Amino acid sequence: MKDVGEQLAERLKKLNWNKDYRQLINDAFNDVEVKEFIKENQGELSQEDIARSASKVYEFVSVKNKIKRGEETHAPGYDPQLTLNNHLIDVTYIPSEALLLQKKQQAIHNRVRSINMPKDIRDAELADYDLEGRELAAQAAGRFIDEYSSAPKKFHRAMYLQGSFGVGKTYLLGAIANGLAEEGFTSTLLHFPSFAVEMKNSIGNNGTMKMVDEVKRTPILMLDDIGADQLSSWIRDDILGVILQYRMQEELPTFFSSNLDMVNLEKQYLTTNNRGEAEPLKAKRIMERIRFLAKEFRIIGRNRRQFKN
Ligand code: ADP
Ligand code: MG
Repeated sequence: MKDVGEQLAERLKKLNWNKDYRQLINDAFNDVEVKEFIKENQGELSQEDIARSASKVYEFVSVKNKIKRGEETHAPGYDPQLTLNNHLIDVTYIPSEALLLQKKQQAIHNRVRSINMPKDIRDAELADYDLEGRELAAQAAGRFIDEYSSAPKKFHRAMYLQGSFGVGKTYLLGAIANGLAEEGFTSTLLHFPSFAVEMKNSIGNNGTMKMVDEVKRTPILMLDDIGADQLSSWIRDDILGVILQYRMQEELPTFFSSNLDMVNLEKQYLTTNNRGEAEPLKAKRIMERIRFLAKEFRIIGRNRRQFKN
C-alpha cells in the first residue's frame, strides 16, 4: 500500500492551486498525527474526502505548531484535535492541560474569600510553613484540615492563634484556608479591625446587618487580628457577639488570630465600654464563645516583617 501522504500529494498535484499553498497543504498532510489519524480512519475516508478536508488538516497543523512555538492562537488555552465529521476531517478544540490546571487553581482560589486581608496569603501553603516555634500549631492545622474534610458536618474546634506582631499568624490562617480550599471547602477570612471600622461607618445602613448575617453564616470563618480593633460595646455585643453566638449554636468552625492571649483579650473587652463602665459579664460571654469555638495556640518566633524588602 502506498503511503497516505504520497497518495495525497499525487491527488493534490492535479488540483489547480498555487504552488505555495500546495506546499503548505502537503506539509500538513505529512504531519505525523495527521497521517496517523487518516490511517486509523481509512475505512471512513475516501481519497476524495481527504482532499476535501485539506483546509481543516491545514488548520489543525498550523494551530498545533503555533502552540508549540508558544504563539497565541485564536482560541488560547485550547488544543486542536482531529475528528471525523460526516466523512470529512474536522478540527475540534479541547481545553489544554494547562488551561484545566489553571481553572482548577482558580476554583481553589475562589473558595477563599478575603475581606481586607493582605494579598500575600493568597499563596500561603502549609507545606512552606517554617515550623520553628509553631510545630504544635502547624500540626493542629494539618489535623483540622484532615478531620474537617472527612466529616464536614461534624463540629470541629478550630484554632485561636496568639503571638506577637509579624510571627506568621495571618499567614497560617491563609495556609489553612488554602488547604481547605484544595479539599473543596470555602472559607472567609476577615480582618476584624477593618471590618469593625466599616461597620461603625455604616451604622443604620441596611447593608450593615446583611453583611454581619453573611459573615456569620459562612461555613468556615477566620477572624484575623481580633482585639486590635477599637472596641465599642456595640462592636463587641452587636457585631462580634452576634457572629459568635450564631457560630456556637450552629457549631460552625471559627478561627481567630490575635496579638493578645485569651486572658488579655478578656481584659480588653472588659474595659471597653463607651460609658466607661466595666462589663465583666459581657466580656466573659464573648470569651466563653471563643473558647468553645477555638483552642489557643501560642506562636513564637521572629518578626518576619523586619526581614522583608
Ligand atoms: P502576623 O499575622 O503574625 O502579624 P504575618 O502572617 O502577617 O504575621 O507574617 C508576616 C510576614 O511574614 C508576611 O509577609 C508573611 O507573608 C510572612 N510569613 C509568615 N510566615 C511565613 C512562613 N512560614 N513562610 C514564609 N513567609 C511567611
Ligand atoms: Mg496578622
